[in-house]
Amino acid sequence: MDQIKIKNLKIFAHHGVYEQEKEQGQNFIVNAVLCTDIEKAGKSDNIEDAVDYGAVCLFIDAYMRENRFDLLEAAASHTAQELLLEFPAVKKVELEIEKPDAPIPLRFESVSVRVTKSWHRVFIALGSNMGERLKYLERAVSDLEEDICFRNIRVSDYIETFPYGGVEQDDFLNGVLEAETLYSPEELLARIQEEEEIAERKREIHWGPRTLDLDILFYDDLILAKKDLSIPHPDMKNRRFVLEPLAVLAPSFVHPVYRKTVADLLRELNER
Ligand code: ADP
Ligand code: MG
Repeated sequence: MDQIKIKNLKIFAHHGVYEQEKEQGQNFIVNAVLCTDIEKAGKSDNIEDAVDYGAVCLFIDAYMRENRFDLLEAAASHTAQELLLEFPAVKKVELEIEKPDAPIPLRFESVSVRVTKSWHRVFIALGSNMGERLKYLERAVSDLEEDICFRNIRVSDYIETFPYGGVEQDDFLNGVLEAETLYSPEELLARIQEEEEIAERKREIHWGPRTLDLDILFYDDLILAKKDLSIPHPDMKNRRFVLEPLAVLAPSFVHPVYRKTVADLLRELNER
């Protein structure tokens, strides 16, 4: 993706662990790489079509002066996140904050922290088979819509499906949600589990009835196999209730493990 670079922006602010740093302040040096599509502005030569880097510099300066963090890590990640929220055309930002006068009793040039934050395209499976199923699903969707760390949410139609996994229980209502998110995979898992808690889901029987089940299907083209988090969601190629709504939203999305499109996975399932 195209880039805009900001080099050695000097900001006087009050971040630091020590009282003296909080009171007196010091200089910080910011370097930023903004990833954005410059094609339109490149053609039109119109500032309206561009990410205004002057405005970005003023924004970083104001945010870093108006807020106080103990740690450079916190200053960098908050500033990066706020920048992405303020400038929607910036898809990804790499932000480095240097502290040339950090209180270290040695000779050194500077210390710095660098973070990368970006919007990630995610798909989340939604399911419910207890009580007011539609209400549980709609509540979860509207909570995510109100969360600033999500944007461009699209939801498939909901479909009635026969329970999967052999436990005797009521039919499910299933769908898929697509969004862009600022959450990391682990933060996203925690966020959807929060919604499951709100729906007072009881985890009694494995594959048993539940008021709300939210599963991460895809997170960009990430492949992750950790104890409590597998992405892409395993077994999706055998689940029509996942592939059907997914194929409505993103038929040409390529499964990063099987290297096949969602439409092809659904077709293969239907042929089995
Ligand atoms: P299931 O969705 O398989 O019916 P649960 O919803 O009870 O079962 O999930 C149990 C655990 O699955 C969660 O605590 C979570 O740590 C883990 N898990 C692993 N990968 C994922 C994923 N991609 N999305 C959601 N949960 C996942
Ligand atoms: Mg689940």
